[in-house]
Amino acid sequence: MNDKELPSLGEFDYVIVGGGSAGCVLAGRLSADPQVQVALVEAGGAGDDWMVNTPAAVVLMVPRGINNWAFTTVPQPGLNGRCGYQPRGKVLGGSSSINAMVYIRGHREDYDRWARLGNTGWSYADVLPYFIRSEHNQNINDAWHGQQGPLQVGALRSDNPLQEVFLQAAREAGHRINPDFNGAEQEGLGVYQVTQQEGERFSAFRAYVKPHLSRPNLSIFTSTQVDKVLLEQRRATGVVVRRGGQRCILQARREVLLSAGAFLSPQILLLSGIGEAAHLQAHGIEVKHDLPGVGQHLQDHPDFILGYQVATPDVLSLNPAGMWRILRQIAQYRRERRGMISSNFAECGGFLKSAPEEKIPDLQLHFVVALVDDHARKLHFEPGMSCHVCLLRPKSQGSVRLENAHPWSVPRIDPGFLQADEDVQALVRGFKITRHLMQQPALAPYRLRDKFTAGVESDAEIVACLRERADTVYHPVGTCRMGTGPEAVVDPALRVYGIERLRVVDASIMPDLIGGNTNAPTMMIAEKAVDLIRQAQ
Ligand SMILES: Cc1cc2nc3c(=O)[nH]c(=O)nc-3n(C[C@H](O)[C@H](O)[C@H](O)COP(=O)(O)OP(=O)(O)OC[C@H]3O[C@@H](n4cnc5c(N)ncnc54)[C@H](O)[C@@H]3O)c2cc1C
Repeated sequence: MNDKELPSLGEFDYVIVGGGSAGCVLAGRLSADPQVQVALVEAGGAGDDWMVNTPAAVVLMVPRGINNWAFTTVPQPGLNGRCGYQPRGKVLGGSSSINAMVYIRGHREDYDRWARLGNTGWSYADVLPYFIRSEHNQNINDAWHGQQGPLQVGALRSDNPLQEVFLQAAREAGHRINPDFNGAEQEGLGVYQVTQQEGERFSAFRAYVKPHLSRPNLSIFTSTQVDKVLLEQRRATGVVVRRGGQRCILQARREVLLSAGAFLSPQILLLSGIGEAAHLQAHGIEVKHDLPGVGQHLQDHPDFILGYQVATPDVLSLNPAGMWRILRQIAQYRRERRGMISSNFAECGGFLKSAPEEKIPDLQLHFVVALVDDHARKLHFEPGMSCHVCLLRPKSQGSVRLENAHPWSVPRIDPGFLQADEDVQALVRGFKITRHLMQQPALAPYRLRDKFTAGVESDAEIVACLRERADTVYHPVGTCRMGTGPEAVVDPALRVYGIERLRVVDASIMPDLIGGNTNAPTMMIAEKAVDLIRQAQ
């Protein structure tokens, strides 16, 4: 049967593919106009249950396939041939429903660099109003922050004494304490702000869609996976989906908006015949538009974790005493929405320069009140703490390609970690800076044993350890890159080159990786996209 003859689930002005961080912003904002019919199509379930909303339950979702696509990368030569792990949200809210809730915007220079690359309208001065429009900051009321936006941002309610211990260690190591990484200056260490409200996760779904579920012009299709974009000549007219084992279509009168994330938006484009012609032909896919940049330029933050066994009950631990404490913490959380169950675990951290000549911070730290090993897939029963160090603007790049032409098969993800020697050298410096911090006197009473890096001293030993243990801190971007050159997939209005009525709006459009966590920047991208879409009508 011709795709256009498949049963239709309806005709809408906008069909949004993917109900994640960006897709929820689009759905909530576009459906605010009652004249506009919006469909939001999400492969995962509805979520919005205790598992998604309880911050500490992140440790149940990230290591497993619960609300999570749980991708594996191809073997990474830079990681001794190991396959990396790439969790991604598969639920309304997308990765904002399974992430660590850290609220960070990146460095102002990141956006000024985007603008210098030819992306007019994306400088820091241009994008700051969209960050502010999105935000409802519960604690900070100044020129950098918003108080009227839908996204709740506030302080942690975990009350963990290790926060103050970490700050003291930071002072002892000679670092500046920064009370607001999203304010005038990013550099320094401190306690993270989180996307939470009263101790509960505040996902993009809760912020932008849940308050508007009763809108008659907003239709949400969960457990519905988009196979490809329907094209008539070079114009997008809808999508083909699978729902309950049946193939159907949704028609789009105005635009199809791809928000399936950095791994799956390029896969959908490729399956639709939009991508490098030779790659499509190799998989027997009819070439609708030869666009070589689709799936290229994947960038992600390579990350290394130092871990310590500790002598304190103020961390997550799975031994009998720790389990007993968790039960008491659950009771406290049910009463007060405070304590360890409200923790995002990555409670503290910040931004540092790996060398004095760096103009802006090139490292980010995440101090975790638990012992993290292999994305929490490898459990340790003793109490522990960890400190991640990641490289913010790696030179290494990879790609997302099709494994085969079946829409239900997972893409071939190659982050290309630690291929560039500059990345390895910068992470070696980051390793030393982080270890120096973790060896400060303030942490001495807690630190019992170095779990993963004992005896690792020389640069060669550090490099070997990085290659043996590093992986992602979950910020893939760039696979549908915005730009003006031949590698670009979308223009600065996020329209796919060569195809009418089709935009990509998610983390995949970032021209290059920003210095920080990627949830708030992705929501900013979608806020700006809403203006661009409205201007086009
Ligand atoms: C474990 C983890 C921890 C993180 N921690 C932080 C953090 O603390 N702070 C921070 O700022 N960022 C963090 N991030 C990153 C951040 O959450 C992401 O960058 C951001 O959510 C990406 O948004 P997106 O809209 O591009 O994609 P997503 O939010 O991943 O949304 C894509 C959506 O599309 C759906 N979809 C995909 N394919 C299809 C299809 N074919 N049909 C229908 N639906 C489809 C998916 O199921 C998903 O819901 C973390 C990410 C992870 C995975």
